[in-house]
Amino acid sequence: MTRPARAIFNPAALRANLQTVRRAAPGSRILAIVKADAYGHGVVRVARALGEDVDALGVACVEEAVALREAGISRPIVLLEGPFEARELSAIVVHDLESVVHNEQQLAWFTRHDANTTLWIKFDTGMHRLGFAPADATRVVGALQRPGRELRLMTHFASAHLAGDASVTAQQQDFDAAVKDLPGARCIANSSAILNWPQSHTDWVRPGLMLYGVSPLAERSASDLGLRPALTVTSALIAVKTVPAGGAVGYGQSYRCPETMPIGIVAFGYADGYPRHAATGTPVLVNGVRTQVLGEVTMDMMMVDLRPVPNAQIGDAVVLWGEGLPVEEIARAAATIPYELLCRMRMRAQFVEIPA
Ligand SMILES: *Cc1c(COP(=O)(O)O)cnc(C)c1O
Repeated sequence: MTRPARAIFNPAALRANLQTVRRAAPGSRILAIVKADAYGHGVVRVARALGEDVDALGVACVEEAVALREAGISRPIVLLEGPFEARELSAIVVHDLESVVHNEQQLAWFTRHDANTTLWIKFDTGMHRLGFAPADATRVVGALQRPGRELRLMTHFASAHLAGDASVTAQQQDFDAAVKDLPGARCIANSSAILNWPQSHTDWVRPGLMLYGVSPLAERSASDLGLRPALTVTSALIAVKTVPAGGAVGYGQSYRCPETMPIGIVAFGYADGYPRHAATGTPVLVNGVRTQVLGEVTMDMMMVDLRPVPNAQIGDAVVLWGEGLPVEEIARAAATIPYELLCRMRMRAQFVEIPA
C-alpha cells in the first residue's frame, strides 16, 4: 500500500511498560489485557512482544483466543466474559482456555462441565456490570469446586481512576469480606488501580491501557508515570497550499483563515480512526513541530495549520498521535477517552513494526 497512513508499533516500548507494571505491583502475577485486538495494536503482534513475560492474556471472546492459539501463542488465555453459548465449552477445552464465570447460566454450564478448566469467578461489588452478588460467593464457589480444577476470585472497580474515591475502598472491603474464607487467588486491579490503589494488587493484576503506554489517569501524564506509547500513528502531507486571509477550509467552511497562511492536507481521516469530533485546535505534529487541525476532519483527509512549519512540503511526516503527541490529548480534544481512539483504530493504516 502506498498511501502513507501508518501505525508504527514499538515492541520495546510495550515491554518497557510491562516492566513499569511489574515495578508498580511487584508481588502480583500479570494477566495482560489484549481484548479488542489488543486495544487496536494487533493481538498477535502484542502477544508475541509480551512473550513469556506475562502470566496470562485476557480476551473478550473465543474468536480472539483462537486467533492467538492459531498464531502459536501458548500462554494461558482468559475469556473475560466467559462463554456466550454452551457450545463454546468444547472450544474452551480444545484450545486450552481459562474462563471467567459471572452469571447463573455459565455457573450451570461449568457445574456440569467435566474438564478442569481454570475458572475466574467474578463478583459484582458495585460496578453493576458483570458478576455474582458477594452474598452468593460461598454458594457459587461451592458449586464450581472440584478436585483438579483451579478457581480464582475477581472483581472490578468502577472508579479506580479517581484517586481517593470512597467507592473503591467500599468495593474492596465487600470483596474481601465475601471471599475471606474461600480458597483461590485474588485478582482485582486494572491499570488505574495498579497506579492508584496498591492495596488492590493482590495475587494477580489486570493491566490493559498502561501496557500500551497510555495514562488512565486524567491528572497524570503517561510520561509522568514512566510509560511510553507502543503505537505511533503517522501519515504525510499530500498537498500544501496558501489560503488567502478570509478563505475558508473544509466542509461547512467552519475555519476561516485570519491571515494569508499555508495549510497542509494530511492523508488521514475518520475512516482511519481519527475522531471526527476533533475540532480546530486539536494538536498534530508536522515534521515534529506541534501545530493544529483546521476545520472538519473528513473521511480520508484532514487539514492542518502550517504556519508553525512554513517550509513543510508534500511528503513531509505527520504524527497524529503516539511518540511526541499522547493520544490522551487527542481524546480530550474529541471529548472521548484514549481507550476508544485506540480500539477503533482497527484501521486501514498499514502496520509497521520497529525491529526489536
Ligand atoms: C478491559 C479490562 C481490564 C483492563 O483495564 P485497563 O483500564 O485498560 O487497564 C481489566 N479488567 C477487566 C475485567 C477488563 O474488562
